[in-house]
Amino acid sequence: MRLGIVGAGQSACTLLAELVQGEFDGQILVFNGEPHRPYRRPPLSKSWLKMSADTDTLRLLPEPVENHISIQWIKEWVKSIQPDNGEIHTEQASYQVDQIILATGTRPRQLTIEGLPSETTHVIRTLDDAEKLRQHVDHAENITVIGAGFLAFEIAASLNHPDRTIRIVAKGNRLLPQVSLKTAHRLVDSSPALTQVDTKIESYDANSKSLTTNRGPVPADLVIVAAGAIPNTEVAMRCGLGTTDGIVTDVFMQTPHPKVSAIGEVSLHHQPHLGKSKRVESISEANDSAATCAKRLLGHPVPFGAIPWFWSDQGQLKLQIAGLCARSDDETCLIFSDTECVVIRHCGDRVTAIEAINVAKEFMAARRLFECGVVSLSALVEAGSVFDLLQSSRS
Ligand SMILES: Cc1cc2nc3c(=O)[nH]c(=O)nc-3n(C[C@H](O)[C@H](O)[C@H](O)COP(=O)(O)OP(=O)(O)OC[C@H]3O[C@@H](n4cnc5c(N)ncnc54)[C@H](O)[C@@H]3O)c2cc1C
Repeated sequence: MRLGIVGAGQSACTLLAELVQGEFDGQILVFNGEPHRPYRRPPLSKSWLKMSADTDTLRLLPEPVENHISIQWIKEWVKSIQPDNGEIHTEQASYQVDQIILATGTRPRQLTIEGLPSETTHVIRTLDDAEKLRQHVDHAENITVIGAGFLAFEIAASLNHPDRTIRIVAKGNRLLPQVSLKTAHRLVDSSPALTQVDTKIESYDANSKSLTTNRGPVPADLVIVAAGAIPNTEVAMRCGLGTTDGIVTDVFMQTPHPKVSAIGEVSLHHQPHLGKSKRVESISEANDSAATCAKRLLGHPVPFGAIPWFWSDQGQLKLQIAGLCARSDDETCLIFSDTECVVIRHCGDRVTAIEAINVAKEFMAARRLFECGVVSLSALVEAGSVFDLLQSSRS
């Protein structure tokens, strides 16, 4: 069998590693649209931005997998696919394969701000983006990050310096809406950034080097846009498969076309833990969806059943989340100290997610508990800690 993988990011590389390990009997063409060998993205907003990492530490694939005889790297951007004929088209050539796996990820949402010069505006998705930002950041005294999510706060923590003022401005009325209010408060309080919500950006004034907003001018020698991501579904949409929300797959990562699969954060599929379909942007989703796809391609299909998890480094605070919850889910806090806490997200007595700050032991226990089945709030509160509940459920 001949596979064509479009994209060479986290999910594509996990798929490669699983196929090599599973002794896949065939040839694999990998289309890498970026000029670099595969690299990890999470450090780009963390150690890489703090200048405490070099390119080698970003490397995604071990040498034996990257140079495996079954893999052919094609440094070209895929323009279109023709699933019925098993064809993949780039600017330069066409390739024939039996199965196409779309692992195209997302790209940053861009904002058009009148008067804002392109050299003053940055995003962080690729290594080139992060490199460009690192080159410009030294000269900036006022950095404004537009966004309200983890990425905005990670960037602020990484760029923190006594000679700089970092501001985070958000359009909505809530910072870090992905997490509970209690967790968000802790992260915002510990952030070095000045924060401002309900802020609508109108334009950029190059003379005063500031953003003009409905809440007055915001100084900004440098603007970083961290306002969410858009799934790269164009290749799929051109052949009637994707939507602007993602590429719909079943729980085996198969699209409605028998020759096309989609993995990673571009895939929109049923999340058993949540009980509905959702596109999830995280390393765990990239790895678990790729592993599911690999099992199917190796002839041992197992439906996607992973418990999603996520982490974010925010200066001295390490946030880890097990599970996936709706934004409206309730929250109950188990406090251990000023710097350590666990917030239980729940819908009635059913626990949907567990947020742990600086307590890796609780986070690991939460993942194990979810894997064992339903977790109830009453049992957790009675036990007083996730770890203790896990221990008592084992004895
Ligand atoms: C700065 C940053 C920090 C992050 N931090 C965290 C974190 O702390 N924790 C966490 O869980 N997640 C984090 N993430 C998210 C995580 O990196 C992604 O969820 C993961 O990389 C998704 O993997 P993927 O394979 O779906 O997409 P990607 O890794 O983005 O790979 C997609 C690849 O496909 C290529 N491509 C797209 N279209 C084409 C085409 N037509 N032809 C050829 N190639 C194409 C792209 O160039 C890209 O290389 C972070 C992401 C970023 C950007």
